[in-house]
Amino acid sequence: MSNTAITVASGDGIGPEIMDATLHILKAAGARIDIETIEIGEKVYLAGNTAGIPPEAWEKLRRTKVFLKAPITTPQGGGFKSLNVATRKTLGLYANVRPCVSYAPFVDTKHPVMNVVIVRENEEDLYAGIEYQQTDEVVTAIKLITRPGSEKIVRYAFEYARANGRKKVTCFTKDNIMKLTDGLFHKMFEQVAVEYPDIVNEHWIVDIGAAKLADTPENFDVVVLPNLYGDILSDVAAQIAGSVGLAGSSNIGDQCAMFEAIHGSAPRRAGQNLANPSGLLLGAVLMLVHINQPDVAELVHNAWLTTIEQGIHTYDIYKEGVSREKVGTKEFAQAVAARVGQSPQTLAPVKYNAFAGGSKSLVTPVAPALKETVGVDVFIDWPTKDAKKLGDTIKELAGSKLSLSRVSNRGLDVWPTSFPESFLVDQFRARFLSNDYAALSGQDVVDLQGRIVAAGFNITKTENLVTFDGTPGYSEATKK
Ligand code: NAD
Repeated sequence: MSNTAITVASGDGIGPEIMDATLHILKAAGARIDIETIEIGEKVYLAGNTAGIPPEAWEKLRRTKVFLKAPITTPQGGGFKSLNVATRKTLGLYANVRPCVSYAPFVDTKHPVMNVVIVRENEEDLYAGIEYQQTDEVVTAIKLITRPGSEKIVRYAFEYARANGRKKVTCFTKDNIMKLTDGLFHKMFEQVAVEYPDIVNEHWIVDIGAAKLADTPENFDVVVLPNLYGDILSDVAAQIAGSVGLAGSSNIGDQCAMFEAIHGSAPRRAGQNLANPSGLLLGAVLMLVHINQPDVAELVHNAWLTTIEQGIHTYDIYKEGVSREKVGTKEFAQAVAARVGQSPQTLAPVKYNAFAGGSKSLVTPVAPALKETVGVDVFIDWPTKDAKKLGDTIKELAGSKLSLSRVSNRGLDVWPTSFPESFLVDQFRARFLSNDYAALSGQDVVDLQGRIVAAGFNITKTENLVTFDGTPGYSEATKK
C-alpha cells in the first residue's frame, strides 16, 4: 500500500516535544505516511507575517490536504490574526470533532463512564468575525448562520454517528430566543435527522443542555452545536472527562483536514520534557482513520490505552495511589511505542472502521422564495436619548408608502410610549413598515433614508424587512 503525504507543523512552546513524541509512536506502529514539514506560528508572526503562515505553507497544505498541527503561540496584541481561524476558513474545515472520553479509574474524573463526541460547526456563527462599532456606546457582532453550513455540520454528525456505531445525536440551540439564527440550525437538524431513522435524535435548549452535559455526560453520545456553544462546551466536556491535555480533535472539510490537540502551547512547560503528548497523539489517531489507515489507528490507540491503564503517566495526570510511574514526554512516547500490538485489559479496546469524514457534505438545493421588502429598520445615532422627540420627528418623514411602526432601543419598544425605568443607549432603531404590506422598491428605501438624512439625522445602518414566501424574515422587538 502506498504512503500518504501529510503536512506537519511542530508549532511553539511544548509543540516540538509533543510532535516528536507523536511521530515516534506513529513510526513504531508502522504508519504509512510521508511527512512534509512547514514552519508556522510565533517565529513567522514575529518576522512580520501577521497571518503566522507563509504562502509556501499554504501550497503544501493544499497539495497534501492532510495537516497534523502542534499548538502555536499567538503573540499578544499587534494585530496578529488567529492562524487557527484562518486555516479552518481558508481550507473550508467546517466540522470540528472532539471525542471526550474518561479513563477511570486510571485518570481522575467525576464522570467515570463518559464517552461523548462533540461535533462543532467551525466557520460560522459569531466567529465569522463581522463586528462594528455603531455609536459611542454600541458595538455589534453579526451572528451568521447559513442553511448550507447548518445542513453540512448536522449531516456530518449523523454520518459520524452511523460510521462509528453511535446511537444518538443531540443538538443544542437557543432557538426560543434566537428564532431565526438558532431556529434555522434546529430546523436543519430536524430535517436531516429524518434521513437517519437508525439513530436517535434529540434537541435541548443550550442552557439546560449544557447543565445536563456537565452533570450527567453518560447520557450523551454525539452532540452537534453551532460554533460558539460548541467552542465552550467542547472544553467543558474535555475537562470533566479528566483533562484537556488528553483530548485530540479533527477539523474536517470536503477536501482538506487538520488534526491537533485541543490544548495550547503551554509556554511555561516548554523545553523541560514534561508535557503530555496524548492530546496530539489522539489527534493523530483521528488522522490515521481519516487517511484510511484504521489498522494503524487501532494499534496506536490501544497501545496508548494500555500505557495509561498501566499507570505510566506524565505529571499532569499523575496521582499518588493511582499512577505507577511519573515519566517525561520522551519516556511516555517510548512506553507507548513499546506497547504497540498490546490491548488494554480494563479499559475497552478500540476498533476503527475507515471513515473519511466530509465525503457526504450534501447540500439540499432549495427553490428561491418570493422575496418582498415590506419595510425597513433604520438605526440612528441619537445621543440625547429622547425617544419621544426622535419618534415624533421621524414619523413625519415616512412618506406616502410607509408608516413609522415603532422605535426600539436595545430591542425594547420605546415609542410611542416608554417607561422611565428602561435603560437607554445612544442607538435607536426606527421600524418603518409599508402601508398595507405592499412591496417596496429599492428606490423607496433609499428615498426614505434620503429624507431622514436631509432632516439632519445620523443613520448608522439600515436593514431591509423582507418576507420570504409571505413569512417575515425579521424579528419583532420586545413589547411592554
Ligand atoms: P494552554 O492549553 O497552553 O495551557 C493551559 C494549562 O494546561 C497550562 O497550565 C499548561 O501547562 C497545561 N497544559 C496544556 N497542555 C498540556 C500538556 N500537553 N501537558 C501538560 N500540561 C499541559 O493554554 P494557554 O496557556 O491559555 O495558552 C498558551 C498559548 O497557546 C497561547 O499563545 C495561546 O494563543 C495558544 N493556544 C494555541 C492553540 C492552538 O494552537 N490550537 C490552542 C489554544 C491556545
